[in-house]
Amino acid sequence: MLTDTHNRPLHDLRISVTDRCNFRCGYCMPKSVFGRRYPFLKSGALLRYDEIETLVKVFAKLGVRKIRLTGGEPLLRKDLERLIVMLSEIPAIEDITITTNASLLTQSRARSLRAAGIRRINISLDALTPEIYQKINQIPYPLQDILDGINHALETGFEAVKINMVVQKGINDGDILPMVKNFRGTGAILRFIEFMDVGNHNRWSMDKVLSGREIIDRINPIYPLRSVGANYSSEVAKRWRFVDGEGEIGIISSITQPFCGDCARARLSAKGELFTCLFATSGYNLKQLLSQGMSEIEIREKISSIWAGRDDQYSMLRTQKLRAGNLKTRSVGKQSQKVEMSYIGG
Ligand code: SAM
Ligand code: SF4
Ligand code: SF4
Repeated sequence: MLTDTHNRPLHDLRISVTDRCNFRCGYCMPKSVFGRRYPFLKSGALLRYDEIETLVKVFAKLGVRKIRLTGGEPLLRKDLERLIVMLSEIPAIEDITITTNASLLTQSRARSLRAAGIRRINISLDALTPEIYQKINQIPYPLQDILDGINHALETGFEAVKINMVVQKGINDGDILPMVKNFRGTGAILRFIEFMDVGNHNRWSMDKVLSGREIIDRINPIYPLRSVGANYSSEVAKRWRFVDGEGEIGIISSITQPFCGDCARARLSAKGELFTCLFATSGYNLKQLLSQGMSEIEIREKISSIWAGRDDQYSMLRTQKLRAGNLKTRSVGKQSQKVEMSYIGG
């Protein structure tokens, strides 16, 4: 089995199908940076569907079993269902999932995604208070449309519907309990994500992070919880079940409890670069190898040697520095430009 320098296998692949988005969430694509003049990729620069299919076949030979389609906003990519069908036909791929802001998730879209082969869907929603929602995504968009999108997902019969809430202290932490109240008992699994220092523009600082522990401490007195085990070894969310049987929530503590030790995830950027960490500063251009006519075996050897040399542990090292007090609260410190999350795929 292929493993990296920390003995981690390659199991999951996140594919960013577009670097574009119709939202401008301040923690991901702040409007001030991703404005009208931002040099988004031209459609010809994106990985084509046949190229994605070829690369996924190669990744499958190296151990990948799970694919997540993301972006940017993946539902903006034309004819996405065609890609999903192509990937579902690769026998080794056991699971195809998607992360979306749900703005385009009509009932018929939810059904067509499911029919094409999406088994599980993650929907991002950071607040239930319309003003807070609007303040975060920076685009006037009716919150009700997103809630309708979530209902369409729930009605469509996906194997799991998860709601991702990125918690920023002082911005949307007041909506934690309303979110719990709203989604418990619906079948959706609400997941709280610690605000991360991805990219270079989101003005991350440690004092905007509400830790997973603090989130649990706010919920537990009102809606008692008990901890439950992971579904699989590389699961990033810590699971908690409501004691009264009304479902479960997840906590993703990338800052206070990093999970680099189990990270079996590679990322493919919208233009076909391989990244081995969310916090990477550079990737390896696989599209170029395809266009040079390199065979699948040669590409497999290339990816295999990249993964074998993988040493990434950014979050763990960041947390060690934070604990040692070597890190200012404002940022993780000077380092070369990290790649943006919308480009690499969140
Ligand atoms: N546009 C889609 C969406 O929002 O669901 C998919 C792409 S988005 C980059 C994927 C996920 O990354 C979303 O759940 C988003 O909330 C999360 N994300 C983006 N920036 C983040 C940050 N700085 N910290 C934590 N999560 C972040
Ligand atoms: Fe767009 Fe998703 Fe990033 Fe928000 S988090 S700006 S919806 S890509
Ligand atoms: Fe994986 Fe990098 Fe995140 Fe660590 S910091 S869990 S290696 S993506």
